[in-house]
Amino acid sequence: MPEASLLEVRGLKKYFPIEKGLLRRVVGYVRAVDDVSLRIDKGKTLGLVGESGSGKTTLGRCVLRAVDLTDGEIVFHHDGLSTDLAQLTRREMREFRKHMQMIFQDPFSSLDPRKTVFDIVSEPLRINKIASGKALEDRVRTALEHVGLDVRYMKRYPHAFSGGQRQRIGIARALSINPQLIVCDEAVSALDVSVQAQILNLLKDLQEEFNLTYLFIAHDLSVVEHVSDDVAVMYVGKLVEQAPTQALFTRPRHPYTEALLSAIPRPDPDQPLPESGGIEGELPDPADPPSGCYFHPRCPYAEAICREQAPPLVEVAPGHIAACHFSQELELQGLEN
Ligand code: SF4
Repeated sequence: MPEASLLEVRGLKKYFPIEKGLLRRVVGYVRAVDDVSLRIDKGKTLGLVGESGSGKTTLGRCVLRAVDLTDGEIVFHHDGLSTDLAQLTRREMREFRKHMQMIFQDPFSSLDPRKTVFDIVSEPLRINKIASGKALEDRVRTALEHVGLDVRYMKRYPHAFSGGQRQRIGIARALSINPQLIVCDEAVSALDVSVQAQILNLLKDLQEEFNLTYLFIAHDLSVVEHVSDDVAVMYVGKLVEQAPTQALFTRPRHPYTEALLSAIPRPDPDQPLPESGGIEGELPDPADPPSGCYFHPRCPYAEAICREQAPPLVEVAPGHIAACHFSQELELQGLEN
């Protein structure tokens, strides 16, 4: 087992059956996550990006076993033990969930409007029977202080708070139970840009203080740039590139990553756009993906082989993997430092 690794996902598949007719005959599968392997080291952040429908949220939900996987391993290393979460029963998984929490995209719908801040933040502690009475209240107070919320507002309801404050409540809820892994699913996407920066900074500070490990899911590369140590890019259920953040941003090796980078708004209007000019076309139907490389109908560099053969995921530089037939030849454009 690698010393510093907290989570290793190996060959993860999640296929959703397509059923037809009265007898609900299975006529095909949506391959939402198709043979994805990745690893997150303790105290680090892996950014997971791709367009809506790329499978990244399904992968996050599989990691937490919020949905059952079709195949693969999700190995969690903790206290000198390695546990394959895919093998745990539902009951065992309920017990294990105290090590992992999720922060959701929409702070407006993810908080129950009928519950007070105290009810919401204390929920994981009560469900897991970790604290009660005065100890419970102390844990909630501490969690609120860590996220910069006034403890006097504990008895208020979510509607009394702004979007950023609600997301802080969601983070306090995740934090209250002292998890090791937090899956942030589009955690700042619903917020204004200035509030996004505050929440990202808060997440970074909390990571440093508690040695937290994040799987940070976002559709926008600019959001993951400043929080991620490594970035993985998904396309139609498959991992197409993964690298240390700076390497991926400055020297992408997959045309899809280049296209995602070109879609990032630039503060400097004089900086030229990459020749690919952004991402065009639609994400293919994951129930009926194109032949060969799934990206070929949208790829400006596609050649005949791309329509016929799926490119394997190979190491193109130390710690940098990509699935493109021409990843060594193409001089793809990244962002300047
Ligand atoms: Fe484009 Fe071909 Fe590379 Fe796929 S394999 S990303 S189609 S160049």
